[in-house]
Amino acid sequence: RLVGPTSRQTIPNYDPATGRTYSTIPDSDHRDIEKAYSAAEKAFSSWSRLPVQDRAKYLDNIARAIDKNLKVFAQAESRDNGKPVWLATKVDIPRAVANFRFFAQAITQFGSESFSMPGEAINYTLRQPLGVVGCISPWNLPLYLFTWKIAPALAAGNTVVAKPSEVTPMTAFLLSKICIECGLPKGVLNIVHGFGHKAGDAMSVHPGIKAISFTGGTATGRIIAAKAAPLFKKLSLELGGKNPNIIFADADYDKMLSTTIRSSFANQGQICLCGSRIFVEEKLYTKFRADFVKRTKNLVVGDPKKKVDLGAVVSEDHMNKILSKIETAVGEGGRILAGGKRIRVSGRCREGWFVEPTIIEGLPFNCLTNQEEIFGPVVTVMPFKTEEEVLDYANSVSYGLSSTIWTQNIDRANRMAEKIEAGIVWINCWLLRDLRTPFGGVKHSGVGREGGFEVLRFFTEPKNVCIKYI
Ligand code: NDP
Repeated sequence: RLVGPTSRQTIPNYDPATGRTYSTIPDSDHRDIEKAYSAAEKAFSSWSRLPVQDRAKYLDNIARAIDKNLKVFAQAESRDNGKPVWLATKVDIPRAVANFRFFAQAITQFGSESFSMPGEAINYTLRQPLGVVGCISPWNLPLYLFTWKIAPALAAGNTVVAKPSEVTPMTAFLLSKICIECGLPKGVLNIVHGFGHKAGDAMSVHPGIKAISFTGGTATGRIIAAKAAPLFKKLSLELGGKNPNIIFADADYDKMLSTTIRSSFANQGQICLCGSRIFVEEKLYTKFRADFVKRTKNLVVGDPKKKVDLGAVVSEDHMNKILSKIETAVGEGGRILAGGKRIRVSGRCREGWFVEPTIIEGLPFNCLTNQEEIFGPVVTVMPFKTEEEVLDYANSVSYGLSSTIWTQNIDRANRMAEKIEAGIVWINCWLLRDLRTPFGGVKHSGVGREGGFEVLRFFTEPKNVCIKYI
């Protein structure tokens, strides 16, 4: 059921395209997390004992209900986040549906190993749900990432306390209504709205919450890890990125150029997987630069309800952060080839938070701009001569989430894939996802993997059972 926050306080919720408040959300705190936990704890025994097919059926029904309301969800996601409605319709909401559908199936195929000690004993592994687990997600792909955690956690038999970002709460709220309509048993999923430093923090330090699956910034991940470690909670951290997009002269040019526009600016550049550092082989650099700048200048930024390429960035604070990072880049000697400024969109969006897609050139690989995540529509372009040189540049950052390599030379592609420090390597493509694959980063981009059976392993505890032959 839907309940108000214990504090009776609310937080304003903004429409980034207009800059105006359009709803309020509960300002929950540790008391609400306690209530959510206790509901989840009560529900655990019966939920975890349900046959997997029954749990899968609930997930399938939720998927179907979201799908039926695709338009409503997409419009809500767009209004809350500033992304174009078409993008939420094509990507965000269908992926949330796919997350529930995928884990409804995956759990029915999830098994465990056994080891025979001939003549002596047999060992098998029981994989049991953890109990009550916590899911905390960010604002860039709100329902997409929220359900990417919740679906496997529930499928594996856990009960869940989940907090969406307070910046984009709306589709999580709609999801809670759908779960009620679908008859998901009471206490199985508890969605708590509120600030990270209050409600999120209360989850990290709650002794009964056995695991936290978190996606968000590296700095927040560090705080959560420090708080959860003394309680020996299981942690899965999906954090920031500063991903290289490496383009060799033998790339399929047209495909590469169109994909690079997407990998640079999709969702206003607010995807942890965006390729924000573009390295181009020297002999292709001049041509690429001219074409990339031209295509970028043609991108339409505006009202997310219209057929635009980019909508608004998520908040005023975030817009100012992006603009200050552009200033830093100029201070470091960067030349702006395209964009660089806030855009004032006419009509209903004139107070909205829009930033031009921005390309910066002339910066060394090791300057702040090329080392720190910007998480907006801002990329740098840099020439390189050799494979070794570009590998050094690519691996010079503290992050290691994803990478993209454009080449038709399969040997080079394999060599690069082996040496690049990243959890994901896309060769001649970007953001092509198969939900069975491990998803996550190395270095400061995270700990652990989501997706496929990896996440089902995370959300279960293996127990070794050893039976002696008589
Ligand atoms: P934040 O780290 O600011 O927030 C993520 C979530 O954590 C929000 O729900 C937030 O709540 C909550 N939170 C904040 N502080 C705490 C705390 N002390 N304890 C517990 N929870 C807390 O990230 P953003 O929302 O700004 O998202 C952008 C970041 O996410 C980028 O760095 C991006 O790279 C990363 N990201 C990583 C992905 C990956 O798969 N590796 C995918 C997508 C994004 P609140 O909103 O109230 O602050």
